[in-house]
Parts: sequence; structure tokens; C-alpha cells
Amino acid sequence: MVFDPIERGRRVEAAVCRDDLARKYYRFRPSRFYGGSSVADAVGCNLSCVFCWSWRANSRPSEVGRFYYPQDVGERLLRIAEARGYRIVRVSGGEPTLCWDHLISLLEYLHNRVGRGEVFILETNGIVIGEEPSRARELARFDRLLVRVSIKGCSPQTFSRVTGADARYWFSQLRALDNLIRSGVAARPALVASFCSDDDVTQFLAKLREVDPELPSLLELEYTILYPSVRERLRRAGLRPRVAVDPRTWSLVRGFGSS
Ligand code: SF4
Repeated sequence: MVFDPIERGRRVEAAVCRDDLARKYYRFRPSRFYGGSSVADAVGCNLSCVFCWSWRANSRPSEVGRFYYPQDVGERLLRIAEARGYRIVRVSGGEPTLCWDHLISLLEYLHNRVGRGEVFILETNGIVIGEEPSRARELARFDRLLVRVSIKGCSPQTFSRVTGADARYWFSQLRALDNLIRSGVAARPALVASFCSDDDVTQFLAKLREVDPELPSLLELEYTILYPSVRERLRRAGLRPRVAVDPRTWSLVRGFGSS
């Protein structure tokens, strides 16, 4: 049975967002991604991806993590960035566009420290921004912000199969890119390509081109990381990635068969 990610998002927000702008996080850490970045791992998502490496936190949002105010999150991110010499800070783990007022307050905190040169990368599945164009307009005032929209599958059918959500929300992810670009926000597409054939990727690129002719050249491909818990969930779901990442070597492995 598929779910509506907007309704699911509201239920998750009841567990991870507070009226005083605090949001739940379960970890703050340095990361090797983007050549080194400082990361806050949030709790809670409006999707339920079978390959989610943060599944444990996102499937039990009431039980996992602690509440932090936007300023606490910003301070921790900048402290890690300063200690490691990183210029990039980001929120990962869960979906950062849930608890919207918390996110805006965090961006304001970081924006007031732009002299330090950090860039904030907002990694999102795009559902909220795709459904509500005003969200994209709200982000336009943050000039050191890059929004990376990670699209979960080449087609609505694959999206639904890997996320559990209603297939029509696949289009919301593309609409998020459109809304962001129209609002003047720097945006980049990413695609979870593990379950796509070459033809699927070609058709997906054509869809991206319809949104904006420059988007195909900006596309990053993401592949499922085969952590043991992810392998087990894939097995139970009967899903076989064509290409995936082996977490022991961080190399790509192929030949699992079609999805
Ligand atoms: S959108 Fe990201 S955080 Fe949410 S379930 Fe999927 S992989 Fe996990």
C-alpha cells in the first residue's frame, strides 16, 4: 500500500519539530563528501527509501535523537568546519525541509556568518519544495545556498517501488527543480540510478532538459550503498540494484540483475 508523503511528512513533523523551532538531530560529524563537509544528521523523513542508510533513525523518529535549536545546530556545524578547515556545511540523515521554520532559522544563522565563506548545501528529496512553490521563493534570499535535489528513481514507477510513496510525487521532485530555478535559487539534480537501465537514464535526461536545458550537464548519479542492513531490506523488497557501492571498498559493483 503506497502512502502520501505530504501526510506522512506532517505525522513525522509532529514527532521531530517543536513550536519553539527546535528539531531533532541524532549526530553532528565531519564527512569526506564534497571534499570535506560538516554535517548535522536530522531525524525524520517523508519518504521511506528501501536503501536509506539512515533508516534506523527515520523509522523511529519519536525514539531517536535530541532536540536542538537552529543556533545550536549552526554553531556545531561551524565548529566542525573550522576545526577541519571545511567550507561546506550541510544537513543530511533525514529530510531537512520538514520543520520548515527551523530550517529557515538555521539558514538565517548561517547567512549572518557568510564572511567566513561557508556554503550551505541543502540536500533534499524535493517533495515539499515541489508541492509548495512559495518554499523555493523563501530560499531565494540566501545567496550562499545550493539546493541538491536527489530524485529517487528514473520513473514514477521506480520511485514508488523504492520509496513506498505514491508514484505521482516523482513529478514533485522535478517540479522542485523548476520552482527553485524560477525563484533564482542555485539548484542541482542528483539521481538514484541504481535501479535504472541505460535507456531509463536517457529518458530521464530528456525530462530534465524539459525543466531546464542546463540540468543534464549538472546531474550527479547516486548509487545505493550496500550496507548489511540495506542488503537485507533490498532482499525483503525483492529489489536488485543494477549498480551499487560496496561500502568496504567504496567501489561500484555491477551485475545484480534488473530491478
Ligand atoms: S529521502 Fe533520503 S532520508 Fe528520506 S528515506 Fe529516502 S534516502 Fe532516507
